[in-house]
Amino acid sequence: VKEKGKAHFQFYRSEMNSIINNVVELETFLRKAIDKNELTLYYQPQIDLKTMKITSYEALLRWNNHELGFISPADFIPLAEDTGLIIPIGTWVIETACKQIKDWSDKGEKDFKVAINISPKQFQQHSLLTIIQKAIEKHRIHPKCLEIEITEGAMQDTKDTSPILSGLKDLGVSISVDDFGTGYSSLSYLKKFPIDVLKIDKSFVKDVHVNEKDAAITTTIIHLGRSLGMEVIAEGVENDEQAQFLLNANCHKAQGFLYSKPLPADEIEKNFMNINE
Ligand code: C2E
Ligand code: CA
Ligand code: CA
Ligand code: CA
Repeated sequence: VKEKGKAHFQFYRSEMNSIINNVVELETFLRKAIDKNELTLYYQPQIDLKTMKITSYEALLRWNNHELGFISPADFIPLAEDTGLIIPIGTWVIETACKQIKDWSDKGEKDFKVAINISPKQFQQHSLLTIIQKAIEKHRIHPKCLEIEITEGAMQDTKDTSPILSGLKDLGVSISVDDFGTGYSSLSYLKKFPIDVLKIDKSFVKDVHVNEKDAAITTTIIHLGRSLGMEVIAEGVENDEQAQFLLNANCHKAQGFLYSKPLPADEIEKNFMNINE
């Protein structure tokens, strides 16, 4: 059954997997990833469900190593968090996203936002607020073009997180709660922190059009967010039935493969922006 090429491929795969399974080695590769220019940001559009206009883009990290190939953030972000590498990587993400905002603004794009993911670990870094502030100043972007996505994990440590979020809010950066409802925190943080956006996790969206429980949870999150004056975004929207449900339930925005997968910046420009080269 095995042809020569396939056997070789399988050998290569298994060798590659053993490298990936070897956390120490993966860490060595990841440590060099920034300097070797192996990281990039892809961007995924978020659509206003009423107007069907694209209002914002989520920046998602991609790592391509010439020996290991493409490694998913689901695999390397946890490692980066365990090893502390999330700090330099997170700073690179902030820097790169702000540079991209500047570039798109210079090219004439208006009224857009870029949302970046910030790990709970980055909040333990006291300089996080300064790093974001400096990046905004350095690239001379409008703070309202930047949104940060945080998870419930970041809000367990009130002491570290609270001054950072207040500082960001004062700057004009908006704050979004990612994977809402999937963590272990209580709802009291919605009162404590200056939150602008709730993101409904894709685990609730997946069967929202066919499963009563997912429908009830999703509808309730939309009501909760709206009652608190927040914007609500559903992620992982893959089909028209889900989109129709969300529109009927009065959800503000949607993000998912139905509209676009995450794309490199130049393809975002080509496909979605009014930029004339
Ligand atoms: P997330 O923040 O919840 O991001 C959403 C994930 O869903 C992304 O996976 C995205 O590509 C994927 N997705 C988008 N549309 C659909 C859809 O219609 N259906 C399905 N099934 N999936 C969809 P990705 O890019 O692999 O990222 C995985 C996770 O890695 C992210 O989950 C986030 O937690 C983390 N991550 C990615 N980039 C960064 C980053 O720059 N910093 C940090 N700290 N974490 C990041
Ligand atoms: Ca996210
Ligand atoms: Ca999410
Ligand atoms: Ca998620």
